[in-house]
Amino acid sequence: MPRRRKRVPEDLPILPVVPVRDTVVFPHLLTPLAVRRSRSVKAVEEAMTHNHTVVIVAQRNPGVDEPQIQDLFQMGTEAVIGRVFRMPDGTVSFLVQGQRRVRLLDLTQQDPYLVATVLPLPDSTDAQEENVPLVRAVLALFEKCVKLSPNIPEDAYVAASNVNDPGWLADLVTSHLALALDQRQEILDTVDPMERLQLICTILAKEVDVLELQSKIHSQVQQEVDKSQREYFLREQLKAIQKELGEIDPQTREMNDLRHKVESSGMPEAAMKKAIEEVERLAVIPAASPEVSVVRTYLDWLTTLPWSAQTEDILDIKRASRVLDENHFGLQKVKERILEYLAVRKLAAAEMRSPILCFVGPPGVGKTSLGRSIAQAMGRKFVRVSLGGVRDEAEIRGHRRTYIGALPGRIIQTMRTAGSINPLFVLDEIDKLGIDFRGDPSSALLEVLDPEQNYAFSDHYLDVPYDLSKVMFVVTANILDPVPPALRDRMEVIELPGYIEEEKLRIAELFLVPKQLREHGLRAEQLAFARSALRRVIREYTREAGVRNLEREIGAICRKVARLVVEKDKAPREVSAQSLSRYLGPPKHHWGAAEERDEIGVATGVAWTETGGDLISVEVTFMEGKGNLSLTGQLGDVMKESAQAALSYTRSRADQLGVAGGFFDRTDIHIHVPAGAIPKDGPSAGITMATALISTLTRRPIRREVAMTGEITLRGRVLPIGGLKEKALAAHRAGITVFILPKKNEKDLAEVPRDVRRALRFVPVEMMDDVVEVALAEAPAPEPIKAGMGSSVWN
Ligand code: ADP
Repeated sequence: MPRRRKRVPEDLPILPVVPVRDTVVFPHLLTPLAVRRSRSVKAVEEAMTHNHTVVIVAQRNPGVDEPQIQDLFQMGTEAVIGRVFRMPDGTVSFLVQGQRRVRLLDLTQQDPYLVATVLPLPDSTDAQEENVPLVRAVLALFEKCVKLSPNIPEDAYVAASNVNDPGWLADLVTSHLALALDQRQEILDTVDPMERLQLICTILAKEVDVLELQSKIHSQVQQEVDKSQREYFLREQLKAIQKELGEIDPQTREMNDLRHKVESSGMPEAAMKKAIEEVERLAVIPAASPEVSVVRTYLDWLTTLPWSAQTEDILDIKRASRVLDENHFGLQKVKERILEYLAVRKLAAAEMRSPILCFVGPPGVGKTSLGRSIAQAMGRKFVRVSLGGVRDEAEIRGHRRTYIGALPGRIIQTMRTAGSINPLFVLDEIDKLGIDFRGDPSSALLEVLDPEQNYAFSDHYLDVPYDLSKVMFVVTANILDPVPPALRDRMEVIELPGYIEEEKLRIAELFLVPKQLREHGLRAEQLAFARSALRRVIREYTREAGVRNLEREIGAICRKVARLVVEKDKAPREVSAQSLSRYLGPPKHHWGAAEERDEIGVATGVAWTETGGDLISVEVTFMEGKGNLSLTGQLGDVMKESAQAALSYTRSRADQLGVAGGFFDRTDIHIHVPAGAIPKDGPSAGITMATALISTLTRRPIRREVAMTGEITLRGRVLPIGGLKEKALAAHRAGITVFILPKKNEKDLAEVPRDVRRALRFVPVEMMDDVVEVALAEAPAPEPIKAGMGSSVWN
């Protein structure tokens, strides 16, 4: 048996050592320990047979099983062992009471247990006067810590406040904090009591910060939890009460209602399945979740859309004819076409895939209102969507439900408004569809209009196919050119070119005036419109192919008269041509020939635009210069080239026109087409520009009652142009009497209304010489122009 206690010369204690892996034992404090390694067990047993004293020391690396001196911290604690329990698995557990700090000097024995020579390091006792503040600070922080931390027993603070020894206090506080092994060892290593207290003070301050933050977070979380728990309990109680009373709770009732709505909506199977799924999902989503309203809105859309409700078609041709006549004046060809269409539908019954009617014409000619009349004639619901400015495919097809605030596209929205699966659906302004980075809406429209696809139209929001095949589509456009060819192919185009003055008069008398009187609460006997007044409104207050502005002006007069009736009780009974300016202000347009007198260098052309046709003037002026040509009035490239051609032709004819040689080199020419803000393009103003040039050169005025249209070649040939019918109507509207047109367009005259053909003198021409002959006044100006002379057309 080895010698247990070897006295060394310095008389230092030699004690058994128990290395521990994960704790630090402090002097004065009781610490429970458990050991298992045989050396430790033997050391404990040895101590128990003598004075119960051992050295407890922490391992630097807890993973080492048989630690040497270098594996142990230098500072340990001399401790007395209390009762020892042996566990069945060989573990020995016991309580130790720390006595004092000891420094390990040497391991004097390894087996059967560790023995070390140690240097005791006793604490100085009692707090000095100057240490009191630090002691108080530590106690105050510790008190907070105890309050905030659920892991420190309440009486720990009481125990600490009764300790007088600052070193002991530091150890006691450390033992209560959940510190890492290194930090605990650092406290043990600090022999000076005040230094130790200082260290624990810093650690405590940090600890209190962390605990305060934790407690704040905890209380916030707690509040949330409390609230939702409260709600949950209340709801459960409510359910229980309602059950006791034999009532159904609102949520269940809503689910039942929804399920009933879905089942009675007449949805096809796929949609029904989807809807039932959503109802079931709704039942399990917590009531407070934002998802609830998303699902509800979706179900609302699904259940309120028409899935099977449909109106019975009336295919009575006589009745249809009557309805069309009741609502629209004239338009014989269009009406006939519509009646034929209905007749075919009647014969071929429902199997027939109806072609899509497309009304093309300027604004205000009745395209939309014809759609309404067809619906009325057939007994169908009427709905309308304007496609003007639609650039985004999602506007047609909707947004996916994953987007916040998503809705179905316009088609589905409008179908809900219609309330039946077979309405008459007008798609207005299809030529104004835009295309940009947000996708091509026309491809979505193709799906809407294509009978091969539209029985299963897919809307992103709806997510289930919707049947549009029973819808009767009517499309309207101002001009056909911008309509994508794929769409154009699916449609049956019916043109409405615009009205002549007499037609407008009749429309105003028969339809617009009675309608506006009605809308303004006036009776027919209260106000009459003289025919001369209406004619003046048409000529001087509107310039349009349709009757939209005419209707607006009539409305304006009715509004003013209605006010007079209310205010003075003595309103005029008739609107006469003379009293017109009282209601509508001074005339907006000058009617008659475009110019007030025959002018040199100002020629009248006719343009074809979206709004029908319109007159344009071309002005030419010469200035001293270097042979430059300037063109103004927002002319497009084609129009500019056409101006160049007109000039080249004119120059090539300089001799015949009596212009001196070199004139063009010393002259700047300016061609201007007024209404400068409106872009203009196309070759059809060629002969108009040439006429204005020749007039300026020869000083022969242009006859003001003449309008012309035609492209010019360098050799002076006059080439055909488009839109003759619209141009002729425009010229007639403006009070022109002579209309020069290319010979090749003569065949198009057949399409021009008879009244216009009667009122206008049409002069077909092949060569520019013919134009000059008709357009320029006979009498030449007294002084022919001199070469290089600075002149303006106005002098
Ligand atoms: P569009 O769709 O071609 O722009 P609207 O259908 O909106 O034109 O017609 C404008 C107004 O003119 C409507 O009040 C319409 O009833 C009226 N209107 C147009 N043409 C006729 C007509 N031939 N007979 C009676 N009213 C007409």
